[in-house]
Amino acid sequence: MNKLQLQGIGMTSQRTRSRLVQRLKNQGITDQQVLDVVAGTPRHIFIDEALSHRAYEDTALPIGFNQTISQPYIVARMTEILLSAGPVERVLEVGTGSGYQTTILAQLVDKVFSVERIKPLQDKARQRFSLLKIRNISLQHSDGGMGWPERGPFDGIMVTAAPEEVPPELLAQLAVGGRLVIPVGGSRNQQLKLVVRVTETDYETSVLEGVKFVPLLSGTVR
Ligand code: SAH
Repeated sequence: MNKLQLQGIGMTSQRTRSRLVQRLKNQGITDQQVLDVVAGTPRHIFIDEALSHRAYEDTALPIGFNQTISQPYIVARMTEILLSAGPVERVLEVGTGSGYQTTILAQLVDKVFSVERIKPLQDKARQRFSLLKIRNISLQHSDGGMGWPERGPFDGIMVTAAPEEVPPELLAQLAVGGRLVIPVGGSRNQQLKLVVRVTETDYETSVLEGVKFVPLLSGTVR
């Protein structure tokens, strides 16, 4: 990929990206550092070239294996919620997918640990991080419902696929003061939740808004 393709031209240009950011603002995203990072991140390199002209529409798009790259609004919203209590150092992401959300996070926190159950998606995401020269991301091919215990505890955990219930393993890997942002529910009725670990034993949950994510599945795919 040459420099022009990376920066984007026409439907993938900086100007197109700025329009997306304006839309996110209109929809209520207020965190300026999140908006700046979205403005500076080429979403078109996270999807198939055949779909790249749609990269800056505010919509989820297919990335293969029945999975989708999340809608920019929800990426921005979840990031804003994760960061809204102050700077965050170590973040676990469950569901690397295209790597777009991972890339946004990596520009805003010290270190991102991201797990993905489908190996070919993980491989592609890894190539994109190296193309963008982003080096504070560690990846693991595993079932993220289990978290990544060896690397925890985490100040933030972001889950980008929906389980029916919050996995207890993720609660256990949250640092005291840490924040978990997670869609919860079945295919028809999902809520975005924020769980804060207030003390060693107390968790506070708030329900934020209705969302639509692919399901969190168990096991791995080679
Ligand atoms: N943040 C990604 C979202 C991709 S969709 C993006 O914006 O591109 C959700 C991803 O979660 C899919 O790639 C899916 O394979 C992955 N996933 C689902 N269940 C998982 C699990 N138990 N462990 C790890 N990844 C999982």
